[in-house]
Amino acid sequence: MLYFSPYDWLILPPLILSLYAAWKVRSTFAKYSRVRALSGMTGRDAARMILRSDGITDVTIEVTPGQLTDHYHPTQKALRLSEDVYYGDSIAALGVAAHEAGHAVQHHRAFAPLVLRNMAAPVTGIGSYLGPVLFMIGLFMGAGTTVFGYYAMLAGIVLFGAATAFAVITVPVEIDASRRAMKLLVEGGHLTRDEAPMARKVLTAAALTYLAGMLMAMMQLLKYVLIFTRMSRDD
Ligand SMILES: [Zn+2]
Repeated sequence: MLYFSPYDWLILPPLILSLYAAWKVRSTFAKYSRVRALSGMTGRDAARMILRSDGITDVTIEVTPGQLTDHYHPTQKALRLSEDVYYGDSIAALGVAAHEAGHAVQHHRAFAPLVLRNMAAPVTGIGSYLGPVLFMIGLFMGAGTTVFGYYAMLAGIVLFGAATAFAVITVPVEIDASRRAMKLLVEGGHLTRDEAPMARKVLTAAALTYLAGMLMAMMQLLKYVLIFTRMSRDD
């Protein structure tokens, strides 16, 4: 279902930003993957010590295949680190491991934006997929001529709006996890004060991808709203 609107250019700036962010994450991670941390600790060691220091005993630390696939799974209470991070003793590995451990700490302490994000997660999957589909169906039926078309477009906007809200709430969750990570790495003696800025560069690049994702969703939502108001007026 391909459709061109006069508002398609709205997507261009966030698209460029997200391409830049994806490149920035890979290049920064690669750069600091080659710098070994003086502490000699691996990502797994750092994650385990951070969890322990927060009194978290029910989260497992596992290896997951792929590159930059690191994540924390809240319902399974599993901290999954990619091989480079799990076994790695580089500054980049420690930064990423601590960031993911930061998510486990957020979960443990019921950090409000994370709780909200986890609640919104199931709706998001449906919203980001079904929202655009419903919108397109409504668009082809005509928003101003058929009642069904009008409500299909509206429902599409509401559903996609929920997915956008999720992308928005993700940004403070990610920034907070990185902020915690940096504090824990330095305080725990995993990184020296000279090494910390390098880990921060990796995490800042990662944060940029979430920012780009948020802007992308917002612009797409704006595009839908603009098309909708135009069509329901003109039809
Ligand atoms: Zn994260």
